[in-house]
Amino acid sequence: MRTVSIAAVLAIAALFAVAAPRAQTAPYDILIRNARIVDGTGSPWYRGDLAVRGDAIAKIAWRIDAPAARVIDAGGHVVAPGFIDLHTHARRGIFEVPTADNYVRQGVTTLIEGPDGSSPLPIKPFLERIAATHITPNFGLFVGQGSIRDAVIGSINRKATPAEIEKMRGLTRQGMLDGAFGLSSGLFYVPGTFTPTDEVIELARVAGSMGGIYISHMRDEASAVVASVKETIEIGEKGGLPTQVTHHKIIGKGNWGKSVDTLRLIDEARARGVDATIDQYPYTASSTSIQAALMPAWALEGGRDDLLKRLHDAGRRNELKKETTRLIMEERGGGDPQNVQLARCNWDHSLDGKRLGDVTKGRGLAPTVENAAETALWLVEQGGCSGIFHAIGEDDLQRILRHPATMIGSDGEVPIFGQANPHPRSYGTFVRVLGRYVRDLKTITLEDAIRKMSAFPAQRIGLADRGVLREGLKADIAIFDPATIRDLATFEQPHQYAEGVTHVIVNGQIAFENGKMTAARPGRVLYGPSTK
Ligand SMILES: [Zn+2]
Repeated sequence: MRTVSIAAVLAIAALFAVAAPRAQTAPYDILIRNARIVDGTGSPWYRGDLAVRGDAIAKIAWRIDAPAARVIDAGGHVVAPGFIDLHTHARRGIFEVPTADNYVRQGVTTLIEGPDGSSPLPIKPFLERIAATHITPNFGLFVGQGSIRDAVIGSINRKATPAEIEKMRGLTRQGMLDGAFGLSSGLFYVPGTFTPTDEVIELARVAGSMGGIYISHMRDEASAVVASVKETIEIGEKGGLPTQVTHHKIIGKGNWGKSVDTLRLIDEARARGVDATIDQYPYTASSTSIQAALMPAWALEGGRDDLLKRLHDAGRRNELKKETTRLIMEERGGGDPQNVQLARCNWDHSLDGKRLGDVTKGRGLAPTVENAAETALWLVEQGGCSGIFHAIGEDDLQRILRHPATMIGSDGEVPIFGQANPHPRSYGTFVRVLGRYVRDLKTITLEDAIRKMSAFPAQRIGLADRGVLREGLKADIAIFDPATIRDLATFEQPHQYAEGVTHVIVNGQIAFENGKMTAARPGRVLYGPSTK
């Protein structure tokens, strides 16, 4: 029976070989100890431990003693839900930098794209490409009204026919079915600017009936900002859906202070039952193309060839220059050509980062506003540039930030580290709020700031399983030191990562720790309400 007993021993050994590691397997994959838990709801922080199993938060308690595969001692630092950014242009760069370091290093775990009326169309193949790329943060989309109008009518200033409206409604419906979280618009931009309010409402109704929200870069953020907020509220009210003023700001010195009126409008709308909200980035400069910021919409109709024709017609050019002069004086130019900074000129990168006044001087002209306007036209003729416009009021910024219906959104992109001169918001938005506006200026509390970055945006787009630290929800988590967290990216030197975030977890996997991105690519495509 000797052979049998050996077989028996082997069988028992085999059993142990399977059973032994199982017996030693920790009940948790990650255990975060000594945390100052800010849960995202706005409730005061509390001390505790938090355990993760798989992709979810398994337990939160005063003390968790069970073993875990990985223990992180938070050392009393803040443990918060990963931040959710409802306004990103992350398709600029996400395929080149799928780890989205600039965002993840701030604690951002979810990026929503397709704002300002501009989205991929159709969105389904784009989301499939994101899924196949294996990126680090989660990713979702809005479908863009401008992209829809462009597909059906083109870049033309005219009303839509009933048949065209029906087509656009169909594209909105398809976008929602494909997974959009709602409809975005950019009524400031071509072709959004050619859209009458009623036409936007027609599409908003479709998105709203399918559970989506409306989010708008408004028609105007300068002299007509109050009327634009009214329009945004009207679209929500008549469209029957939640409506959001995105990257709310007051542009142009002459308009500073108007946030008193715009916030009152939001309060009044909310009081009568209109679900109107706001998002914001914490900088006093905006960013868009030189042509969008410093040229009137009529000049841009039809696209670049038509624009160049107008620039070559002396009479039209003169008219245009007058309008550009006015825009530098009263709107995005902030009254001084030095307030206009070139971000990226693809045809001459030596201009990247330079101020419009200096570029004007460099062309041998006195840096008057008229000459700066002439230089702006020249820049557009050469191929155009993206720009940064220092013309937003700080008092308005803080007033908007304090409003309970305001959340944080970056309006950023995924830069390739060291390339061009992007707006620093891509690297610093969330940590700047936590460092400058919570710790240094005490504009809002830590708990309120976290709410504006997590539970509030999650709730806004119906992400019921993220945005709050609670057992059973997805383990998207940011750990940071509230005493040292700060943004380093500046308008002059934007390519600087944020400081103070120590760990970032996405879907239960550590994506960032010890100052380095890990090899994990845990991000998922998130689908909107019509797909559930
Ligand atoms: Zn925008």
